[in-house]
Amino acid sequence: GATIGLLGGGQLGRMLAEAAARLGFSVIVVDPNEDCPAARFSDRHIAAAYDDLDALDRLAALCDVVTFEFENIDLGALEHLSGKVPVHPDAWALRVTQDRLTEKTFLRETGIETVDFHAIDGAPQLAMALADMGGRGILKTRRFGYDGKGQIRFGGDSDPTPEEAWDAIGGAPAILEALAGFDCEISVIVTRGRNGETHEFEPARNDHEGGILARSTVPCGLDSIVMADAMEKTRALASRLRYVGTLALEFFVMEDGRLIGNEIAPRVHNSGHWTEAACSVSQFEQHIRAISGWPLAESYRHSDCVMTNLIGDDITKLPQWAADGAVRVHDYGKRETRPGRKMGHVTRLVPR
Ligand code: ATP
Ligand code: MG
Ligand code: MG
Repeated sequence: GATIGLLGGGQLGRMLAEAAARLGFSVIVVDPNEDCPAARFSDRHIAAAYDDLDALDRLAALCDVVTFEFENIDLGALEHLSGKVPVHPDAWALRVTQDRLTEKTFLRETGIETVDFHAIDGAPQLAMALADMGGRGILKTRRFGYDGKGQIRFGGDSDPTPEEAWDAIGGAPAILEALAGFDCEISVIVTRGRNGETHEFEPARNDHEGGILARSTVPCGLDSIVMADAMEKTRALASRLRYVGTLALEFFVMEDGRLIGNEIAPRVHNSGHWTEAACSVSQFEQHIRAISGWPLAESYRHSDCVMTNLIGDDITKLPQWAADGAVRVHDYGKRETRPGRKMGHVTRLVPR
């Protein structure tokens, strides 16, 4: 069978590798960490940094197609790799989605509303933008943020000064976003094949705690018109990006049902883990099918569900979760437990 190269060996890579193996592919994972979660589910592991061009050349020689499990990859390295082997999703999709400024601009051009924002390149500019937004907003680094890292909120009692905030995010290019007073958050997972066919899963309602996804609930409980709107917008995004593979689009849902696009994940996404347990095909298998030029699968959701992330010490509760026969458990096999680290997840199913 064909061989898939996978950049990144975290839990997302592990679930992708698992799906690929089941379809008959060999998987070669590149990850600097020797015992990364994906290593056990792949045929071969290249322990190297993602911008190690020699390692990427070796990977290219061994693979039929390359994909990635996270967006914080050096763009130049991915472009280099693209000259040697097909890469899906492609470097252009990564370029657009890796940077919050180009990402939000692209969303707007696709007809998806976003919060108001200002590009920020220094403390004086931040001071002006804050004044324009009435002292309220969220400062986010344009690149490399995740799980709420690299973000500072303004509008409380003990706001930092613009200089302090600029230093705190490391003086990296940033954007200041207006705060959205949303009712809830949802996300839609879409997969687009090489031939342009698309498949969306229905939206999940996402609850965050401390900036980290805590739970995804399906069905999301919204009006079917709002759900259809979210799916339609996500499909339009994938098409306009000429995207191949699985992506997630996060939305804020306003009280009147209006949808505001928050961010795009150019990869499989934590808020789609429920598909593993509650659907006939998962976001992971759809991704592998798409990048390999296979037809996408029909997917049926057989159960209602709540997916709960096991973060840090939560992983010690896995046996209690597993004692409930309606719960599918997933332990990522990470050696070291750290506060805020995603260690596993559980999905509780209720048959429809
Ligand atoms: P992820 O782990 O999802 O990639 P991230 O670090 O890229 O997270 P965001 O998704 O932009 O960050 O923000 C994390 C959470 O913070 C959002 O899900 C939402 O709850 C809240 N948030 C972010 N931006 C805004 C905003 N403009 N208005 C209100 N809440 C926001
Ligand atoms: Mg993000
Ligand atoms: Mg997010």
